[in-house]
Amino acid sequence: MAAVAALSYSSVRTYLECPLRWKFLYVDRLPEAPRGYFSFGRTVHSVLEDLLRPLVVPTARLTPAGDAQRTLDDFGGRFSARGRLMSREELLAAYAAHWVSDGYVSAEEESRYRLLGETLLTAYLDDVARAPPTPVALEEHLEAKWEGMAVHGYIDRIDRAPDGGLEILDYKTSRALSDEDVRTSDQLTLYQVLVEKNYAEPVRSLTLYHLRSLRPLTAPRRAEEAVDGLRERFGRASDGIRADSFEPTPGRACSRCEFKSHCPEFKAPPDGERAGLLALVDRFASLRAEEDRLDGELRRAAEELHRAAERLGVHRLSGSARVAIRRREEEWRFRAAAVRELLSANGLADRADPDDPEAVARLLKDPSLPATLRRRLAEAGGRRVRWFWVLEDADGPG
Ligand code: SF4
Repeated sequence: MAAVAALSYSSVRTYLECPLRWKFLYVDRLPEAPRGYFSFGRTVHSVLEDLLRPLVVPTARLTPAGDAQRTLDDFGGRFSARGRLMSREELLAAYAAHWVSDGYVSAEEESRYRLLGETLLTAYLDDVARAPPTPVALEEHLEAKWEGMAVHGYIDRIDRAPDGGLEILDYKTSRALSDEDVRTSDQLTLYQVLVEKNYAEPVRSLTLYHLRSLRPLTAPRRAEEAVDGLRERFGRASDGIRADSFEPTPGRACSRCEFKSHCPEFKAPPDGERAGLLALVDRFASLRAEEDRLDGELRRAAEELHRAAERLGVHRLSGSARVAIRRREEEWRFRAAAVRELLSANGLADRADPDDPEAVARLLKDPSLPATLRRRLAEAGGRRVRWFWVLEDADGPG
């Protein structure tokens, strides 16, 4: 049984997409190649943290006992004066210092990204200077116990809401973002849970901040049903990991999965085995085709026998060595509510479970029940009759 380390939003998403990919990443720790857009995102996040750090005024956290801790503001606010924002030159210097070159496919791609970052960060600086936010925490790593599961996440920004409470904000450097994204993001739902388990104030709203357009997309705090849904998904992943359930699950994740050479769904057998396996697969395929052909022939022969038996009014037809015998099987389906009502009205509620068609069908043949009741029970259901053939040796069952 695998030990379950603290679960994050991305680890649960990975597990639910493909448990084997999760194992490659979180147990085997197979490395992934760096990607330019991840490096870019990391750089931009670091600069934004530097930019807004002077504006942070912490707020009360919860102690392990669930009490609100006091903050410096509780001592007269002398300590929590907000600092000044960076100048444009300082921002660009921070950008240069934080730049990560890993993963760009070409110098041209890297310089395109570099220019994009410069444009959006300087525009963001102007925006922030016009309307400075009120952060209480930046790049905050929060952990919590949630229904017995250890969960954690890194939250880009937590702000003080204008009317009290807290706002959660996650920066996105991606191309496109929609209102649907902010309404359904599991990442934001988890952050709400983490913040409310660590801070003394409730979460009021959740925002995905689209940096390319300087547009915040905001949704109100998640309703209980959304939190329950996420808890169920986290529970499913946690149970699967505990049970060492790491089956490959081919799907959308495969297109960006770098572990195909390790994955049984894609891994090729060793060269020395290929010829033997090729012959084996060919033999299996031809046997399967033969099986399908025989299935079809068998079905047609049974139908022909059935027509002959119907026409002649017989159930036994002899061959040279074996006898084909026609058997009848019936399957009943009942409307459980109607059956329940009939049984209760006749004081027979304990005689059969209305949801068990076989038990109700047995009542139809029970001579101790009044014939009218049996007829009404039959009317509360429907019957499907199936004929099939068995073979016996000509001189007895075989
Ligand atoms: S290639 Fe697809 S099925 Fe295999 S581990 Fe990766 S995501 Fe899973």
